[in-house]
Amino acid sequence: MPGDSLIVNINSRGIEQNTFDAIVVGSGISGGWAAKELCEQGLKTLVLERGRNVEHNKDYPTANMNPWEFKHRGQMPAEFLKANPLTTQYGGFSEAIAHFFIKDNDHPYVQDKPFLWIRGYQVGGKSLIWGRACPRWSKYEFINPARFGYGIEWPLSYEELAPWYSYVETFAGICGNKDGLEAMPDGEYLPPFEMNCVEKDVKQKISAKYKDRFMIQGRWAQLSQAQDIHLQQGRGTCQARDLCSRGCPFGGYFSSVSSTLPWAKRTGNLTMRPFSVVHSIIYNEKKGKAVGVRIIDTNTKQSTDYFARVIFMNASALNSNLILLNSTSGRFPNGFGNDNGLLGKYVAFHNYRGSLKGDVEGYEDKYYYGRRPSECMMANFRNIHKNDMDFVGGYMAFMGAWRDSGAGNKLDEQIGAAFKDAMGEAGGWHMYMYIQGETIPKESNFVALSKDKKDQWGIPLIVTNVAYDDNDERLLKDFFITSAESLDAGGVKNITQHDNHWAPGRDIHEMGGCRMGKNPKTSLLNKWNQFHNCKNVFVTDGACMTSTGNQSPSIFYMALTARATNYAAQEMKKGNL
Ligand SMILES: Cc1cc2nc3c(=O)[nH]c(=O)nc-3n(C[C@H](O)[C@H](O)[C@H](O)COP(=O)(O)OP(=O)(O)OC[C@H]3O[C@@H](n4cnc5c(N)ncnc54)[C@H](O)[C@@H]3O)c2cc1C
Ligand code: SF4
Repeated sequence: MPGDSLIVNINSRGIEQNTFDAIVVGSGISGGWAAKELCEQGLKTLVLERGRNVEHNKDYPTANMNPWEFKHRGQMPAEFLKANPLTTQYGGFSEAIAHFFIKDNDHPYVQDKPFLWIRGYQVGGKSLIWGRACPRWSKYEFINPARFGYGIEWPLSYEELAPWYSYVETFAGICGNKDGLEAMPDGEYLPPFEMNCVEKDVKQKISAKYKDRFMIQGRWAQLSQAQDIHLQQGRGTCQARDLCSRGCPFGGYFSSVSSTLPWAKRTGNLTMRPFSVVHSIIYNEKKGKAVGVRIIDTNTKQSTDYFARVIFMNASALNSNLILLNSTSGRFPNGFGNDNGLLGKYVAFHNYRGSLKGDVEGYEDKYYYGRRPSECMMANFRNIHKNDMDFVGGYMAFMGAWRDSGAGNKLDEQIGAAFKDAMGEAGGWHMYMYIQGETIPKESNFVALSKDKKDQWGIPLIVTNVAYDDNDERLLKDFFITSAESLDAGGVKNITQHDNHWAPGRDIHEMGGCRMGKNPKTSLLNKWNQFHNCKNVFVTDGACMTSTGNQSPSIFYMALTARATNYAAQEMKKGNL
């Protein structure tokens, strides 16, 4: 049990050498931001990362490979698929990006209820492989869960977070239009990618029929036009190649590896320790606060303790839950800060189950330039001002139009000169839509630690008990109806719909377990992402989420992290931490 006995665990180096001003656990999207902000504030910061090191450009082995240069032409061998049934369920998984995803057997977990946990364990975490959609939450997503009785009150408002959204958007580089929508507020955007001719037409037709349905160009973490602040980071304008998850040699999309971590390093205040799986937080009963963390070196399996005045938890939602649950002490016998027994509970996710597609006639003389790395979006229009549906929460949708790869697909003979010629011709136009829906955080959706199963470093495995509910089914049903209406209004024909019945987790937006709130009886973290009962530990990854909203969450974590780290630095300067 980590606690006052910590000194015996220091093996090779003295306390002084292992002491920093701040420790950040995890180097992904949120950890990169914590590192940047803390280092810029002059704090000596240690970033602990369980995975290997990844350096910008140097460690993108497939970035410039052509399809024919891949041994399996981009596919994964059957043997690999069989050995990795979970990870490979992510739709974009391929030979080109497999090295940025974990292998299932290396990192097991227990699914009491099915949960598809998609992970990338390396410096940069999932920031290397994320989809990069970056819309802002609206003020309604903050207030509606409590207002309509399906959640607790958020301890901060949209207005309080808005300046921090602006701050992170400007540095990361988000492109998009200013559309003036109340369900998806505008941010500090670089110019958007252009909609193609079909998308422009569909948008205009949907708007003509439905006054509350807004199809817009996506807000995306892509440097459509690099500004001075991005050039200073060594990043350049995106070339619209859509090969982002291989790592981008231009730094055209935002990742910790291309942006926040090198920026932090330049301050001279960053120490990065890869191959360091954080086991637990060390609580000192006499001091009444956390004093450091215990890590296990993933190569040597040796444990070492590191110390700091503040600790930021950024290991990703479920991993932060795992570490906190594993951080037991005399003061916190049931997990770190867990006086109310709610740690690990109210885990939620996004409803990603529904999609539609259809055909678009005409436009045969039109094509589009390049491979746009973004999609269009339709902002939520359900349950915004009042809860007038038979479900709670809202949904947004991703959508877009494309031409298929040609008449060759229709030939019986899939070989030879005729097939080759036909493949050189563009095929018909099609349009798709898929859902990103809010889900309700519930006490019955939780994660816990296995009592008997451990990983290769002796850390208990996490157990998932997370499932969809009736509200999700009703929301999905409404999405299918309204999206078919929208596509139909847009002139799309032969519309089909599909419920993929994915388990939670495959939606890649797991959240909660250590939620923020005003009341210590019903939440673990206050408005600054600090534990109510241990002010020098902050959680600013998805674990802190009080509700899920319907927008992609990562830009929200970035904004919360920048806000909380700046608060922590000020409090440290005042001597309060
Ligand atoms: C394929 C895919 C597409 C996505 N698309 C989008 C999108 O379009 N928009 C969006 O907003 N979000 C998207 N997401 C989600 C997004 O990736 C996450 O929300 C985001 O990465 C979370 O940031 P994080 O810092 O919490 O975690 P991560 O980025 O996962 O970083 C966590 C880091 O902590 C490390 N770590 C874990 N446990 C420990 C430990 N015990 N000790 C030390 N280190 C540890 C991990 O190795 C990792 O490097 C997508 C995710 C995936 C997988
Ligand atoms: S689309 Fe842009 S960000 Fe993505 S790999 Fe190409 S240049 Fe890089």
